[in-house]
This record gives sequence, structure tokens and C-alpha cells, in this order.
Amino acid sequence: MKQDPRALVVELCRHFYTLGWVSGTGGGISLRAGDRIYMAPSGVQKERLQPEDLYALDLAGRVVEAPANAPRLSACAPLFLHAFTKRGAGAVLHSHSVNALLATLTPASEFRTTHLEMQKGIRGTGYHDELVVPIIENTAHEHELADDLGAAMDAYPASDAVLVRRHGVYVWGATWEQAKTQAECYDYLFEAAVKMRQLGVDPAAKPMAKAAE
Ligand code: ZN
Repeated sequence: MKQDPRALVVELCRHFYTLGWVSGTGGGISLRAGDRIYMAPSGVQKERLQPEDLYALDLAGRVVEAPANAPRLSACAPLFLHAFTKRGAGAVLHSHSVNALLATLTPASEFRTTHLEMQKGIRGTGYHDELVVPIIENTAHEHELADDLGAAMDAYPASDAVLVRRHGVYVWGATWEQAKTQAECYDYLFEAAVKMRQLGVDPAAKPMAKAAE
């Protein structure tokens, strides 16, 4: 990583704020650089973060550097750590995007699409493939999601995202660039699927064959 990881977390949080992914202190991104993991404190305004506000953890999740005035580590910490340890992620982000929330307003335990061009931005997925993202149930407190998130990661090894019902999404990647790109593609697909449902089009169904002329 050429850029200082602390500066990069700050820059990406500001950018995600403009997308509506980390408003109201929710959501954020965590990066791994070598044997250190960088993440934000709990309950801070992500668009106003400074590099010195971040915690640094070792790969076992122990805090090795704590900011001077932070009350405690982000409640997302155990969830972010699952992506680093179970999936070897280089970065993981949590978004409170309205698109992600709306995509979970289905009785199903999976989000599915097929035949959408932006699926190609997701690891291992082509235009003709079926994209499947597990949906886990929300809990009263963010950290209580950790066990279910870890179980969904184990059950869906092809997915680099887990949706949380009426809440948002966790997305990761081998690098921060891949995590960001995939998060953008997933968010686009969530929005597209919601709008397709509004039009009465099933986003998980193959398009009908073109009528013969
Ligand atoms: Zn959240």
C-alpha cells in the first residue's frame, strides 16, 4: 500500500459519506496494512475523522494503538475481523446505504440477481451467472451480528458481501481497491433490483427470449 493506511481510511470514509453510506456515524471501513488493522472508534462522525483518531489492532484483534480521546473501538470490530481472518480480506466496509436496506425487504434469506452487466464487477461472477448474497437478521446491537455474519461467510464462500435485514451490508475484498469497487457494484445491483421489483420485473429471473420477428 503506497498511501498511509490511516490517511486512506479517512479519505474513504469522507467519500462514502457523500454516497450516503456512513451517515449518522453508522458504517465505515477498516484496512489491513501488513500485520496491522486500522479502524475507527465507536459513534464518531465518519466525514470528520482524522488519521490520529483511528485504532490500530494486530491480526488477532488486540488493540495495539488507541487514540487519545476515543471512548471505545467501533462496534463493527468483531464483524470486520471475521472478514480479515475468515476471508483473508485486505479491507472490509460496512454501509448503511438505503439501497442495501431496501434490497433486504423480502421474506427471502438471500438476495439474487442474474443477467445484469454490473455483476461482472463482483469476484467470480459473469453476466449470465446468478449473483447470490446472504441476508442475516438484524439485532439490537451491532456486535451481536458477529456470529451470524461469520456463519454466513462460511456458508457462502462465493459471496464477498453479507446483507443485514433493514440495516445495511458488509462488503470486503483482497485489497481496498477491490473492496471499494465491489461495494459500488453491489450497491448498484441492490438499487437496480429494488427498482426492477417496483416495475414488476423479477431481478432473479432470466430475461424472456426475444420474440421472433
Ligand atoms: Zn451498522
